[in-house]
Amino acid sequence: MDALKHLSDATILLLPEQVDPFRHDESHLVGPLPLAVVKPRSARALRELVQLAKAEGFGLVARGAGTGKAGGCIPMERSVIVDMGEFPGTIGISHADMTLSAPASAMLKDVKMAALAAGLFYPPDPNSWDLCAFGGSLATNAGGPCACKYGMTRHWVLAVDALMDDGEVHTFGIATVKNNAGPNLAQLLVGSEGIFGILTGATVRLIPQPKQLLTLLLPVSDWHTLLDLPAALVGAGYLPSAFEFWDPAVLRELRAHGPEEAKRMPGEALALLEFDDPGCNEEDFLEGLLEVLGPEAEHLQTATDARQREALWAVRRMTSVVLKEQYPKKVSEDIVVPRSQVRAFFEGAAKLPLVTYGHLGDGNLHVNFLAAGETDPSELERNLSELFKLCLSLGGSLTGEHGIGLAKRDAFLTLMDPYQVEAVRRMKRALDPSGIFNPGKVI
Ligand SMILES: Cc1cc2nc3c(=O)[nH]c(=O)nc-3n(C[C@H](O)[C@H](O)[C@H](O)COP(=O)(O)OP(=O)(O)OC[C@H]3O[C@@H](n4cnc5c(N)ncnc54)[C@H](O)[C@@H]3O)c2cc1C
Repeated sequence: MDALKHLSDATILLLPEQVDPFRHDESHLVGPLPLAVVKPRSARALRELVQLAKAEGFGLVARGAGTGKAGGCIPMERSVIVDMGEFPGTIGISHADMTLSAPASAMLKDVKMAALAAGLFYPPDPNSWDLCAFGGSLATNAGGPCACKYGMTRHWVLAVDALMDDGEVHTFGIATVKNNAGPNLAQLLVGSEGIFGILTGATVRLIPQPKQLLTLLLPVSDWHTLLDLPAALVGAGYLPSAFEFWDPAVLRELRAHGPEEAKRMPGEALALLEFDDPGCNEEDFLEGLLEVLGPEAEHLQTATDARQREALWAVRRMTSVVLKEQYPKKVSEDIVVPRSQVRAFFEGAAKLPLVTYGHLGDGNLHVNFLAAGETDPSELERNLSELFKLCLSLGGSLTGEHGIGLAKRDAFLTLMDPYQVEAVRRMKRALDPSGIFNPGKVI
């Protein structure tokens, strides 16, 4: 594409071997070769890209670090990948406002560390937090273990800067907790997966860093006993900052193929619980907790130091990687049901050939069809449809955190309320009348 060669302030990749790696993300999907990969370094470059996209009729597919699991950043026919990795800007913290501003190009890890270094806390913690970009985490409204207590990314966003259809970067929202001037367009852009515009940066809210932490390993011999715990804990006034679990099949895979720490993990199934309430290290907190856990607490273990805690979390973070290495063609979904419906979900899904791990505390479960590669596609489709319908019938949804992207587009269009699907379509037409932003995704 010759016109792209003359873009200002941008790295431009055109050769097939240069653009080939951008056909993938961390989903099972692979797109066609993009026309080019452009890494803009200024608002001017973005403006020129919009003009060119409209003139030449190609799509602009925003990309952060490519760790998405819904195929959201992979190219479609006639797409240019807009890799935001070189977009300029620095991470800044305002102690007075308790806010942090960062460009989309910052890595989420650096954003979280900058907050920490200032004695403050930015909670969003997708298990890819050391791999993904801040911009990608905003565009997917990333969740993570501590969403259980602290909510998802959108809960923390005050303002976003975004390239819109007019070719300009606009700021939506203001850098303070109170703002009520009409519908919140910043929130519309968070989680919009690049279909309304391209995020160039954001300002987020911070809170003081929790001072205490209690990390517990809860091995059980019958994993079904875990299923009522999320609701029971919350009912008793205990809100974990994380409540993760591995079912017996996933735990077996981890022990066989995971890192050393995984081989030492106890139980037939296992939960990893964390609390960060003031006083959570004191005896009466643990005593009350043991009462709620009941006989299940028999083999409860406390992570003794930061090193052991980090090792446990490293195993949690690499669970999907270990499974993918063993089952490269597996299909994984990240359905969600209310925590009160976790048991009903597993009863309803008993006949589906799936293994599960993930964020048990908020009902966001990573279900994996490990044999998807060898399964008749129509059978796989039936299983997925049954899975999604079950979640919707229990008051849940198709995806708790990874988003719709391309992977769940068909399910989104067929299973969601037609009024809402049409509303999103109308918003898309209003904000992106030329259809240049991430065409073919979500809607
Ligand atoms: C091992 C592993 C664990 C994970 N754990 C979690 C988890 O716990 N919780 C969770 O929510 N996700 C998780 N994910 C999924 C993924 O990492 C997150 O969604 C992450 O936030 C995506 O960031 P990214 O920078 O890689 O985005 P990408 O994959 O590059 O893009 C994702 C989507 O956002 C859009 N996008 C990216 N940047 C921009 C931008 N600047 N403007 C507009 N749109 C943009 C893309 O077009 C695409 O639709 C995990 C992934 C892996 C591989």
